[in-house]
Amino acid sequence: MTAPDRARARATDGKQTRRIAGGSGSDMTAPGRLDGPLLCVRDVVMRFGGVVALGGVSFDVEHGQICGLIGPNGSGKTTLFNCISGIYRHSAGDILFQGRSLTGLSRHRMAALGIGRTFQNVALFRRLSVQENVLVGAHHLGRSGFTANALRLPVVRREESRARARLRELLHLLDLETVASVDAGSLPFPTQKRVELARALIGEPGLLLLDEPAGGLNHAEVDELAVLLQRILGPFNLTILLVEHHMSLVMRVSQKVVALEFGRKIADGTPEEVRKEPEVIRAYLGETEEEAQHARFA
Ligand code: ADP
Ligand code: MG
Repeated sequence: MTAPDRARARATDGKQTRRIAGGSGSDMTAPGRLDGPLLCVRDVVMRFGGVVALGGVSFDVEHGQICGLIGPNGSGKTTLFNCISGIYRHSAGDILFQGRSLTGLSRHRMAALGIGRTFQNVALFRRLSVQENVLVGAHHLGRSGFTANALRLPVVRREESRARARLRELLHLLDLETVASVDAGSLPFPTQKRVELARALIGEPGLLLLDEPAGGLNHAEVDELAVLLQRILGPFNLTILLVEHHMSLVMRVSQKVVALEFGRKIADGTPEEVRKEPEVIRAYLGETEEEAQHARFA
């Protein structure tokens, strides 16, 4: 069995992945099946001086869904991710997670609530090893305080061994075992993307924001990513908001797709509905012919 096969097999093994998620028992990360959507974006506006990056965007993401977020370059996708994950403070509107407003919460608090993300251009510590980078993502899971840490109390050792167990499982799942001790900065871009995904998953997020995870991947790697995303969704108890330029990937894995253009929503529905939407086809005709084709026929 090749390593990617192993990874896929592992991803389908509910028992194994549930153990990694380990967090199914953790009240900090369990998405909690409240009535209503997991994420509600309500009339969100984001201005940078005179630039209106988001002009009042609204949509919902349901529990357990992969929701694709598409749109030409500059349409506001990354800005919206930055608002949801607390990097930017939106100028108006509200974002609700599990029914509670995220407005004004710190990034750290959002991670602790169960919102994880990856970055379009990859944001790893280049001089730290792969495993050190991944463990950074488990930081907020520790509940022991400063004193317990300073005294190395048993609770601290238990937290560390739990994080290390999850680390091992994730390195295996994402085929990173052989590079675990290698500096992240020396790895090829697609491998760095997997490291980021592992770092997000070790934090046991209920909502995972993926910003162009297929960027820089070849055809076979995009296919593997599609399989992986679909297979980890249930066992990891995840909901995914997926920004992606690869229209075929979005259309294949998403249950719902939201399309933006110039900071405004131009379509919202199933992949079948959105790809037929004249506004979406028109928006993509402004891009490359290949993307326009995908928008119409993918
Ligand atoms: P996308 O991810 O869809 O390609 P972005 O969210 O990166 O688009 O950008 C949307 C718009 O907001 C663009 O016009 C971009 O120039 C602007 N923008 C994004 N971030 C900033 C910022 N920090 N300062 C000023 N303008 C920004
Ligand atoms: Mg972007």
